[in-house]
Amino acid sequence: MKKGEFLYEGKAKRLYKTEHPDILWLEYKDDATAFNGQKRESLAGKGPLNNAISSWFFTLLSQHGIGHHFLDTVSDREQLVRPVTIVPLEVVVRAIAAGSLCRRLGIPEGQRLPNVLVEWYYKDDALGDPLVTEDHIALLELAEPEQLAFMKAQALQIYAVLQQALEPKGIVLVDFKLEFGLDSSGRLLLADEISPDTCRFWDAQSGKKMDKDRFRQELGGTLDGYREILERLGGKANV
Ligand code: UDP
Repeated sequence: MKKGEFLYEGKAKRLYKTEHPDILWLEYKDDATAFNGQKRESLAGKGPLNNAISSWFFTLLSQHGIGHHFLDTVSDREQLVRPVTIVPLEVVVRAIAAGSLCRRLGIPEGQRLPNVLVEWYYKDDALGDPLVTEDHIALLELAEPEQLAFMKAQALQIYAVLQQALEPKGIVLVDFKLEFGLDSSGRLLLADEISPDTCRFWDAQSGKKMDKDRFRQELGGTLDGYREILERLGGKANV
């Protein structure tokens, strides 16, 4: 498989064609961004860490029969994925209050929610990715009600699989963000990444943050947190 024509650059990844029309080449960058791109920095080694962590989670999901775009890891910062057209929604799953949920509703950080919560955000940088209801999604024709039902069910199943895998490793899964896309046959497929950039992970003993909040909140040691996640998953950090 060869890396082909450049297709698209996002905040954390670059996408290329391959010689195979049904396979794309995804490269994880070292760039870190927060607050809708207002804070940005290059963290040398973040790409390889997220590539390894994301590959680990997608492989775990395969073992539980959950479909996704990930195919294979090809280098320390590159993987092969299925092409999808991304649904412009961020699907956020929360077990414990943190971040925007605390700011919006006044719930104290760290409070476990009585039920796992699923929220929808409209992926639109110009609007600052606003929280939207299912009626807003229908109004904007972002997804069909059956597609929402499918994504919500998948999101809850993914929470259960990740939580079960992380608990024995002393990692608390606080919340995370998923993105889905439509493949060439119109099937909804989990896409994007699952990494400390898109999840909140806390140490079960100390509550130490091991995710992008270290960068957002200027706590220092951002990549030490990411490295610790990879090591606890049993992966190797060669950065
Ligand atoms: N998240 C993300 N990308 C975004 C917004 C949120 O990956 O553009 C993740 C974030 O890392 C956290 C979860 O989604 O794990 C919930 O984020 P929240 O709504 O609390 O936003 P924040 O506090 O980061 O503004």
